[in-house]
Amino acid sequence: MPKMRVGWITFTCSEDSTMVFLELLNKNFFEWDNRMEFAYCKVLKREGSVLQTKDVDVFFVEGAISTDDEEKKLRHIRNISKYVVAVGSCACTGMPSAQRNLFDKAMQAEIEERLLKHNLRKNVEPINKFIKVDDYVMGCPMGEEIFVKTLNKYFTLFGV
Ligand code: SF4
Repeated sequence: MPKMRVGWITFTCSEDSTMVFLELLNKNFFEWDNRMEFAYCKVLKREGSVLQTKDVDVFFVEGAISTDDEEKKLRHIRNISKYVVAVGSCACTGMPSAQRNLFDKAMQAEIEERLLKHNLRKNVEPINKFIKVDDYVMGCPMGEEIFVKTLNKYFTLFGV
């Protein structure tokens, strides 16, 4: 039986929605394993690069965008995915990862050297600044119930 091909990636954030997802897998692994397979998910599969990943049905994106490299990967994800879902507040709205966008001039001057050192942009942005997003799973971290509801919606859509 065909399975839904899923991607999961983390950009700039504290990775807590990934922790929620792993906890959900503890409870749901055997049921979900019959219905989906991972095309890309670094916390579960070490091998593979996101830029070489292809043919994804639903890509879940956690975290905000703060580097050129993240933007490049995000645009690739959009090109190879039928649906892209933002998970957690950082991906959906930029916040709280984007707090430094609001720093005053003195504070921005203080962090400038660190931004340059790590190739970080001046501003941190939500993913919909760069690509079309099909669904949003809000929460900080993402809400379990809304995530499961969203996942079930795509299981139905892909007939798995
Ligand atoms: S949305 Fe909240 S919990 Fe999730 S990565 Fe951002 S800061 Fe962490």
